[in-house]
Amino acid sequence: MAYKTINPYTNELVKTYPNHDDAYVEKTLSKADALYHQWRNQPVKERTVLLQAVSDYFTAHTDELAKVLTIDMGKRLSEAKGEVAICAAIAQYYADHGEEMLQPQTIKSSAGEAREEKHPVGTLMMVEPWNFPYYQLMRVFAPNFAVGNPVVYKHASNTPASAAAFEEAVRNAGVPDGSCTNLFISYDQVSNVIADKRIHGVALTGSERAGKKVAAEAGQNLKKSTLELGGSDAFIVAEDANLEEVNKVATSARLYNAGQVCTSSKRFIITENHYDEFLAALKKSFAQVKWGDPMDDATTLAPLCTVSAKEKLQAQVDDAIANGATLEYGNQPIDHPGNFFEPTILTNITRDNPAYFTEFFGPVAQVYKVKDDAAAIKLANDSDYGLGGVVFAGNPKHGAEIASQIETGQVFVNTYFGTLPELPFGGVKNSGYGRELGHLGINEFVNNELVVVN
Ligand code: NDP
Repeated sequence: MAYKTINPYTNELVKTYPNHDDAYVEKTLSKADALYHQWRNQPVKERTVLLQAVSDYFTAHTDELAKVLTIDMGKRLSEAKGEVAICAAIAQYYADHGEEMLQPQTIKSSAGEAREEKHPVGTLMMVEPWNFPYYQLMRVFAPNFAVGNPVVYKHASNTPASAAAFEEAVRNAGVPDGSCTNLFISYDQVSNVIADKRIHGVALTGSERAGKKVAAEAGQNLKKSTLELGGSDAFIVAEDANLEEVNKVATSARLYNAGQVCTSSKRFIITENHYDEFLAALKKSFAQVKWGDPMDDATTLAPLCTVSAKEKLQAQVDDAIANGATLEYGNQPIDHPGNFFEPTILTNITRDNPAYFTEFFGPVAQVYKVKDDAAAIKLANDSDYGLGGVVFAGNPKHGAEIASQIETGQVFVNTYFGTLPELPFGGVKNSGYGRELGHLGINEFVNNELVVVN
């Protein structure tokens, strides 16, 4: 497997990165394991202080770190700066709260004085994707650094510059050697790392295919895993919704990061009293999108990450239309060497159309008309995925009632948020299991050791 940066805006090769050999992997695991044993006897505070330094470093180096992302995977520079900012916020969050979150908890018991202590488990293997190259790493690194679990990671083969830049950034911020190491390795080497006795947990974000393979390997080796996979999130417009508020966020909920977000709104489920007006507004808004150089502030739509991502999306749209979907807007070729895909709207997607159950990882909106709120909930739940979701309702209490009936990991009512450090992130069904961020994220790879003193 070749780790290389091909600029998605020009499709020119920027740099190829040689793979790490087994000797490097061995040295890395050995250092990480030694650090874990050292950390077990050190107070959490010593690490949370360093997380503060990591946060400060990301903030101070926003511009240079952001440019790496834009060249590596094509996102708009303003979005890249936003990604660096959220990374700084995550490190800050665990710097502020890590110590408190890892305090022992007392348990009332007839057995005696019982408490649950929170200890690290050891080094973790991370497998991460290209869509938010730093953020995906920070979500696992920061809480586990506080816990005392070193991490090693295999990043996507198309974002090696970001993988290397993250490692360099945290090291420059002062984290010890061995605590966070990038590995440019093959799938076979990943398997070997997972099987290695010094690895005690596996975290993956990516496709179902990769999730099944890596989680099976973790299971075979009796190691806990967390999986954050795809999603086909519903965006429900309830009967009493205020359409003005809906229209303010619908386009960015679908097109942010060129639509390559696991929790972007992919299925717009609109009650029939709002349908025509909503569809007209979405078409108008998509028509105003300006594709172009992601480094240019005037650009509002970036290219997709790779040629193959664009080809896959095109095949999915063609297949949806061949199976009876109506093309309402877009799907016209864009004459440019970059991987641009015109924002596209599909309607009349019936349940027997493969598109109905497909995640479109790019700027393609599926819009469904339903009779009422009950039908909206039913359609939202008729999915193989359950990652996020959005509900717009005039009465927030009514919106919250709808939200509670959706089988998914997280729902936002009358707003759309990608992510915040304090909010646990993860899904159910084929969207995976486990949580990252918030108080749940820091507890995924912790040994809750029970100590009972009589
Ligand atoms: P992949 O799952 O292929 O890639 C994610 C990571 O897994 C990469 O580091 C990849 O490495 C690695 N990987 C893939 N297969 C294996 C394997 N057998 N053993 C070890 N590591 C492996 O995602 P894609 O880039 O193909 O994206 C396709 C789909 O993934 C999207 O349509 C979306 O559904 C989902 N996805 C979800 C994301 C999310 O945030 N939840 C983010 C990105 C994608 P390599 O690059 O070298 O193949």
